[in-house]
Amino acid sequence: MRRGGLNPDLRLSLPSHEASISQFLTQSGTFKDGDLLVNKDGLRILSHSEEGGQSLIKVIGNQLSLDDVDTVKVIGKGNSGIVQLVRHKWTGQFFALKVIELNIQDSVRKQIAQELRISLSTTQCPCVVVCYQCFYYNGVISIVLEYMDGGSLADFLNSVKTIPEPYLAAICKQVLRGLIYLHHEKLIIHRDLKPSNILINHRGEVKISDFGVSAIIASSSGQRDTFVGTYNYMSPERIASQTHGYISDIWSFGLVMLECATGQFPYPRCDSFYELLDMIVEQPPPCAPPEQFSEEFCSFISECLQKKPKDRKAARLLLVSGVSDLLNSRIFLCGRGRGRYSSSSHMVHLWSQEHPFLSMYDDLQVDLASYFTISGLPLSQF
Ligand code: ATP
Ligand code: MG
Repeated sequence: MRRGGLNPDLRLSLPSHEASISQFLTQSGTFKDGDLLVNKDGLRILSHSEEGGQSLIKVIGNQLSLDDVDTVKVIGKGNSGIVQLVRHKWTGQFFALKVIELNIQDSVRKQIAQELRISLSTTQCPCVVVCYQCFYYNGVISIVLEYMDGGSLADFLNSVKTIPEPYLAAICKQVLRGLIYLHHEKLIIHRDLKPSNILINHRGEVKISDFGVSAIIASSSGQRDTFVGTYNYMSPERIASQTHGYISDIWSFGLVMLECATGQFPYPRCDSFYELLDMIVEQPPPCAPPEQFSEEFCSFISECLQKKPKDRKAARLLLVSGVSDLLNSRIFLCGRGRGRYSSSSHMVHLWSQEHPFLSMYDDLQVDLASYFTISGLPLSQF
């Protein structure tokens, strides 16, 4: 399947009158918000143009219909709905189909539209799960995702119990690459980073999924206590309803990596949201036990689990080293494979180095593909 497969000349007439908000669901069952349409035929982003004095809208997107796929089986269940393995009838390609039932209120329409727009446009990074298409039909949003045959890090952790540092370093690098893409290229906050939203496959790839989906669910429900699972990984500033930004994801990332290393969620079990809130906001942050883990790993976790957001390191500071050119106020990233920079000016200032934990096992040439295949659950044979 290819994105952008539609005939670029396909045009529709733009209705002359402004559609009222109450009409965001048309009689034909289309979810509409400005240039975004989602219905049983898929998601379309429309670009507006003027031609011959008439307003035209151009359809962009691909042609994948739900009728084109057969359901193979249910592969997962989350707070928001179920995930099915589906097979494309014509190409034989497998996809994961996430089905979310929505109780749509007018107030959350804009947010849903924005999240769907983000999901479909954010597929240019090997460390982020591809979202191929979204459909809205009869109160149900279906999202066609790249199928990851190793399931989630949560599934894998259930099976292996703990992940040794060398493998964890390799996993960390891929998640950080995904976060750099979301945070620094797309300016997206994930908001729900947790083991079940990090997916793996038999090629040893690790990818972030479900960015934005949590926001759809949370806002369409309005009942935060019904989503306890999501709150576990929230940063102190976010759970306390203070201003939060992409650096809040780094806290969640640190908790996930610590959980993978120790095999246990880093906080004691809490019976209520308020107990958890108190623990995260008032208690010292969790750390990796120094008698069990390398100094580098303990330091890496500590860089992520700083209670004050300003003390936490951004993804690109953890993964890539860089220099800033003070004269031109420009920043160069110079991690591996990123090319060279000129240090001829004395104004160039070294401001960061890749965290040592990430490269300390490079000599071992860790093979995540074999690790995921041999150590985890049997991967689906398709
Ligand atoms: P939440 O609803 O809070 O996001 P969750 O992440 O556990 O919780 P889902 O996102 O619905 O719920 O995912 C449930 C399970 O489905 C995952 O743990 C994983 O095993 C499986 N899954 C989800 N997406 C995919 C995918 N793209 N490829 C393969 N398996 C997937
Ligand atoms: Mg998920």
